Amino acid sequence: MRAAVYVEQDQPLIIEEMTPLDPGPGDVVVEIGASGVCHSDLSATNGTLPLPPPTILGHEGVGTVDWVGSEVSQVKKGDRVIGSSSRPAARAGTARMASRTSASRPAP
Ligand SMILES: [Zn+2]
Repeated sequence: MRAAVYVEQDQPLIIEEMTPLDPGPGDVVVEIGASGVCHSDLSATNGTLPLPPPTILGHEGVGTVDWVGSEVSQVKKGDRVIGSSSRPAARAGTARMASRTSASRPAP
């Protein structure tokens, strides 16, 4: 998968191939259809918000559930979902993002 990665303050984002982490029993894997880079993301890249790089930006994605862990009960494969850091949306479960470290490996 590709991600917009913030690597250095006041520098352009870098689009990189990432290798997702293996999901756990409480995780949901979502095939992202689209994700914006919002004003909060831009505030992180200019130092207004304290978010140290490297970081994957784009926390407002929308997509389709592709896999659910054994402990997840509120969504199922095929559900259309949105990602958000706000509490109501967080009830649907959590999703882990690929780390910059894992991105150094080529995608399978
Ligand atoms: Zn936002």
